[in-house]
Amino acid sequence: MHGPELSPSTIAVAAGRPARVPGGPLNAPITLASALVPGGGSEYGRQGNPTWDSFETVLGALEGGRALAFSSGVAASAALFDLVPIGAAVVAPRHAYYGTIAQLVERDRRGQVQLRLVDIDDTAQVIAACEGAALVWIESPTNPSLEIADIEVIARAATQAGAAVAVDNTFATPLRQKPLDLGADFVVHSASKLLAGHSDLILGAVVTNDDRAFRAIEKRRTVLGAIPGAMETWLAARGIRTLHVRLDRAEANAKELHRRLSASPRISHSRYPGFGTIIAFEVVAGPAAAQKMTEQSDIITYATSLGGVESTWERRRRHPGEPTSVPEGLIRLSVGIEDVEDLWLDIQNVLAAVA
Ligand SMILES: *Cc1c(COP(=O)(O)O)cnc(C)c1O
Repeated sequence: MHGPELSPSTIAVAAGRPARVPGGPLNAPITLASALVPGGGSEYGRQGNPTWDSFETVLGALEGGRALAFSSGVAASAALFDLVPIGAAVVAPRHAYYGTIAQLVERDRRGQVQLRLVDIDDTAQVIAACEGAALVWIESPTNPSLEIADIEVIARAATQAGAAVAVDNTFATPLRQKPLDLGADFVVHSASKLLAGHSDLILGAVVTNDDRAFRAIEKRRTVLGAIPGAMETWLAARGIRTLHVRLDRAEANAKELHRRLSASPRISHSRYPGFGTIIAFEVVAGPAAAQKMTEQSDIITYATSLGGVESTWERRRRHPGEPTSVPEGLIRLSVGIEDVEDLWLDIQNVLAAVA
């Protein structure tokens, strides 16, 4: 049923449903079980759960590989980092998600990996760093700087250099970017964001079409126990059913808000990569005004997460872990699916109040 000819919208709605049997449910049930009857794929709840399968099937179908769900996005990336041979070099974007960088810096300090930080939008610099590396980690667009990597060119060079390539596809989602088709070996997601889409759970995933790597990552998950909850995977599978509709609406809002922010004399340097739902900008009046602005909005919620149906924003440097190369006053705005005129009015009101 899920041939390559189906559109992603149809896959998002149709994949990962139970077999059609008379009287059976259309959606995978929430299976709360620590033990399962032996003879199937899993007989203990740490090895597998039918509710995970539903989420993994639809995400895998969208990305063009096989998915494994994890308890969080950082647990998914940790499972991949665990597969890097001890002491090997890992290339990663300077401005990757700070939880990703924190893990790599810690592993570097312990001598587990050699971390090579690069500007991911400088393709020549990234390719030069691939020499002798075991893993090239790409995040594109980056969080929160919104730099774009040339995934296809980097993946080709990295593969030639013998390095595996992983792409954090949280911001783009498989509806805007399919890293496995561009030559990557792994896709990583924080499903807590756009995939689930309602700011109500924490969940991660790794997707690959390399069977050996799939088994190794699955084993890592079972051994370390960074497993998802049945409830979280059920909610995320439900969220994915509307991903294309939410993304289209939020993206249209984001494009319009970026256009208006770019034209505003009170805003400097509005960044938007041309797709997706995240905008980053600075306020001419400075970081203190930016902080106040985010705390005073009515409709846009002052919050750290992103990718939900509701718009949220925050000044990123309020987090001590954010790199100092991110401007002190930079606000990251995650655009939701509200009416764009209401959002713009909210922004204008707080801008007038603080700047
Ligand atoms: C949130 C996020 C993560 C981490 O995911 P969690 O689900 O919070 O563990 C990783 N990468 C990006 C780009 C993110 O935005």
